[in-house]
Amino acid sequence: MSDQNRSYEVLAYYYFTHIEDPHAEVLRHKEFLENKDIQCRVYISEEGINGQMSASPEASRAYQAWLKSDPRFKDVVFKVHHHHDHAFPRATVKYRKQLAALDARFDIAMTGEHVSPEQWKQMLEQKDEKTIILDVRNDYEWEIGHFEGAELPQLETFREFPEYARKLKEERDPKETKVMMYCTGGIRCEILSALMKKEGFENIFQLDGGVINYGLKEGHDKWCGKLFVFDDRLAVPIDEKTDEVISSCRHCGVSSDVYYNCANMDCNELFLSCPSCAEKMKGCCCNECTGAARLRPYEKKDRPKPFRRSHYYHDSKAS
Ligand SMILES: [Zn+2]
Ligand SMILES: [Zn+2]
Repeated sequence: MSDQNRSYEVLAYYYFTHIEDPHAEVLRHKEFLENKDIQCRVYISEEGINGQMSASPEASRAYQAWLKSDPRFKDVVFKVHHHHDHAFPRATVKYRKQLAALDARFDIAMTGEHVSPEQWKQMLEQKDEKTIILDVRNDYEWEIGHFEGAELPQLETFREFPEYARKLKEERDPKETKVMMYCTGGIRCEILSALMKKEGFENIFQLDGGVINYGLKEGHDKWCGKLFVFDDRLAVPIDEKTDEVISSCRHCGVSSDVYYNCANMDCNELFLSCPSCAEKMKGCCCNECTGAARLRPYEKKDRPKPFRRSHYYHDSKAS
């Protein structure tokens, strides 16, 4: 990617703080975003803000300054990537009951010890057999990249984690085991570390700012492959440079980290495929789906953007 192509900044940030009137905050955001070169997905709740956005460099600077000028948000940390295009299809700001979708109350004071990327790297180097590196993301995320030697739970959604934590407690002594947990940007660890503590795990460490922060500060050392992100880019190098592919095409097994949403709209599963299998299968995840009633036409693209079923349903309802 040449510099002239990197004309957008992709921001990731979250902050826990009490917001008295989150609906008013949503409106305040919407007013600010009007006529700005910003596309985003921002969630606001009583417990804080969780945002991702792509913006021109000027709009990005303006937004960061604007948000931080509010005393509630003055300590927000923005993690910044670069991309040649917007990474979100539109500007979405919404009220959400929970910042990260998990039906569990959590106590922010109960979280694990936050570890800087630098300390994290040291801990990885000094890791003993009582330590586990726990990837708390979903399976389709770690498939294309993860820390070396990490435990990779087979979870399809965040909601399956509590069950996983209970099982882990049966296999590992929760008092002795040192758990180093990480996620994409850090927010899931804020919640899941509290949950692990509730289960009795006493030594919990969480990577501050997640893998995004680690890549920006420490590069790709100790990391294999790429990072899954919940925007149009889907797979990114964690230090914006390396191009390692560790995953493979579901159909034929050749090396690939290109995601497709199954063209069967009633399936829509996100899966990895090589371009030739994608074409042969008309963008479907399996033979059964190729014969489904509601098929989206297959469009050949180097890196397809995610097809969001929720948007499809939402848009079709609205029209
Ligand atoms: Zn293939
Ligand atoms: Zn399918």
